[in-house]
Amino acid sequence: MQPRKTRKPLIEDERITALNHIGVALLAEHNEQQLLHLIAQTAVDLIGARFAAFSLRPTNEQGELLVPSEGNMFHLAEVIGVTEEQKEQFRRMPLGGEGLLAPIFRYGVPVRVADVLKLTPYEKTADGMPTLEQLKTIAQNSAFAYAHGSLSVEDLQSLGVPEGHPVIRSFLGAPLLDRTKQVRGGLLLGHPDPDRFHADDEALLVGLASQAAVAIDNVRLYQAMHTRVQELDAIFHSITDGVTLVDPQGHIVRENNQAQRLRIQLEQSPQGKLALEALLHVPAQHALAGQEQRDVPVSLLNENQELLDYLVTASLLHQQPFPDDSDSQAQPISGAVIIWHDVTETRRILRERHMYAETEARRSLLQRILDELPTSVYLVHGHDARLVISNQAAKTVWGASWSPEQPMMSFLQENHIQIFRTDGRILPQEQLATLRAVQRGDSIYQHQEIIRHADGSSLPVLVNAITLDTRKAPLNLPIASQDQHEPVALVVYQDVSALKEAEYLKDDFIGIAAHELRTPLAALQGFIELFQIQLTDQQNIALTAGQQESLQDIDQAMQRLVELTNDLLDVTCLQAGRLELRLEVTDLVALVKRVIRRYQMIADNHEFVLVAHAPFLIVSIDVMRIEQVLTNLLSNAVKYSPYGGAIHITLEEVSTTQQALLSMKDPGIGIPVLQQGRIFSRFTRADNAQANGIYGTGLGLYLSREFVERHGGSIWFQSRENQGSTFFVTLPLIAHPIDNKGDNMDEAQSNS
Ligand code: ADP
Repeated sequence: MQPRKTRKPLIEDERITALNHIGVALLAEHNEQQLLHLIAQTAVDLIGARFAAFSLRPTNEQGELLVPSEGNMFHLAEVIGVTEEQKEQFRRMPLGGEGLLAPIFRYGVPVRVADVLKLTPYEKTADGMPTLEQLKTIAQNSAFAYAHGSLSVEDLQSLGVPEGHPVIRSFLGAPLLDRTKQVRGGLLLGHPDPDRFHADDEALLVGLASQAAVAIDNVRLYQAMHTRVQELDAIFHSITDGVTLVDPQGHIVRENNQAQRLRIQLEQSPQGKLALEALLHVPAQHALAGQEQRDVPVSLLNENQELLDYLVTASLLHQQPFPDDSDSQAQPISGAVIIWHDVTETRRILRERHMYAETEARRSLLQRILDELPTSVYLVHGHDARLVISNQAAKTVWGASWSPEQPMMSFLQENHIQIFRTDGRILPQEQLATLRAVQRGDSIYQHQEIIRHADGSSLPVLVNAITLDTRKAPLNLPIASQDQHEPVALVVYQDVSALKEAEYLKDDFIGIAAHELRTPLAALQGFIELFQIQLTDQQNIALTAGQQESLQDIDQAMQRLVELTNDLLDVTCLQAGRLELRLEVTDLVALVKRVIRRYQMIADNHEFVLVAHAPFLIVSIDVMRIEQVLTNLLSNAVKYSPYGGAIHITLEEVSTTQQALLSMKDPGIGIPVLQQGRIFSRFTRADNAQANGIYGTGLGLYLSREFVERHGGSIWFQSRENQGSTFFVTLPLIAHPIDNKGDNMDEAQSNS
């Protein structure tokens, strides 16, 4: 910096004016570095120095002093009138805690030296020149004495100008004192010529220094305030609640981001404006009228028509009195503050919790009810029958715990549970009532299964698996994820051990009774036959027509009794697992023809039409049993077609499954839909059969199915009430018949 021209001495008034001006300028400056420069520059300009340095005592952010008031602890804040190099050097050198600067920093007094180089030379000690340590002590003592007025400025001891320091002779320094007279720093001026500073300069510098102290305080205060305001601002805008300040007239003075966003959004629509009334203006008016509001619930719809819930608090805003305001009671109202606390999410969570609790309560009620049921109940979903819910009895039936969402087969395998048919054969997976219900959508009633547990114990059960229709009304299952339309089945297992026990006893009884009946029946049958032969042989014995009819009735009744006892014996045989098949290779076509021919003799009203699509169908069967099946089907076709008509029988090969297929179609009374599901059960008869007074025991179809299935075949039917029935039977083929249908068609057709 170029030294300024030497100024003319200022007169008193000029000094005051200059000080005032600079005072205003200092107060207007908010940048500390620029302020320090301005002070230093002003000092140089006003007092005519060539060099000015500003040193400050370090403070913390709160402005508290961090070091004792010793010069070398101070830091150089600004320097002018030196080269850049010297400036750098200054920054590195101690600022002179001893010597001439010590009174300024340590004792807070100004120092004015006319000629630094002319200061009193050091007294030699006894040992010659004093050491540096001794020189420092001398300088400190003289500084102390000067500060306390017992030494003139001329007697101050200088430690000399450090190397690299600009050469100065005139020196003027003044402390920067704060309100409590603590030394905050020092303002030092220098000039290369001697005797440049006078008493008025000193007074001016002291005045300037005290103004500078206030200005520095102000700048720091301003900066602290500024930082504080910024912090508060950041906090204000980061509050998740909407906060709005209004003036006493209700006009918005400030609002945070949250509040602003919502307000702008609401102002877009008339409906929103109404909501803003309830949310902002009304609470503000209440608060300003002295009725403060706390957590008033306000609900509104946003632009997406979503319901938003707020709790609104409106309170008065009082101006804080200044700390030295004696009348602290007077707190003028500066407006109101309105806070919108968004509770939409909280309410939603609460609602969800409430719903969850309700569902849970319902579920546990359902579970309790289910657990009280004596029968085992469970609900499954999906094609692999994953468990939704089951009851306590189910655990007992399975002898294991089935976890929710576990597929049925995995549960059975994991617990080594096997399911058997009543005849003791293993039940194929696809025939399990539960899986049939979910995989095929069938509702299965009274299906008999035997559960064998891992420990080898068996439990006979009656299964009802009911498919629930999810297509029309999806079920809300208490599971985490569910495909709305996947199959759902309710399965009830009834332990029928006791029933089975009774059934065994009954079967035993029937078995014994039937067995015991056979001998007298055979004798009676023999006698009747003998009687009839005798009648034919002895022409002289003449019976009346009535007697002959009675004899025929007795014969027919005998036939039925024999059939019934035979059927009963077969049933008990099957139940006891004593049925043995005597298999022999047979041509089914020939067998069917034979049975038809024989039956035709006693069925005058009906015509049998056989169409065989193969010349022969070779099967390995127990001929007697399959004949029994065919006879039963023929007998039913005749019996349940009381008005006669044609009975169509077809025979063919199903090459895809390697089976022989027989169908028998009658024009009879049919089977009512409701009873179709149970028609193969023992002693089951359709209502219309009984209503028509047709004799029967309900055992024939049961035995037929057992026999056919034991041959590896199957039996089923299609029927409509009053429109007739068609029964189907398949039996596995053992060899391919020669395909020469055309040649044999006519021959195969038999109207025997
Ligand atoms: P039964 O004929 O001795 O009563 P089945 O076991 O042979 O016993 O038949 C069971 C029931 O099925 C019959 O009582 C009858 O209701 C019905 N049924 C069987 N076959 C026919 C048929 N072809 N037409 C109509 N109903 C039939």
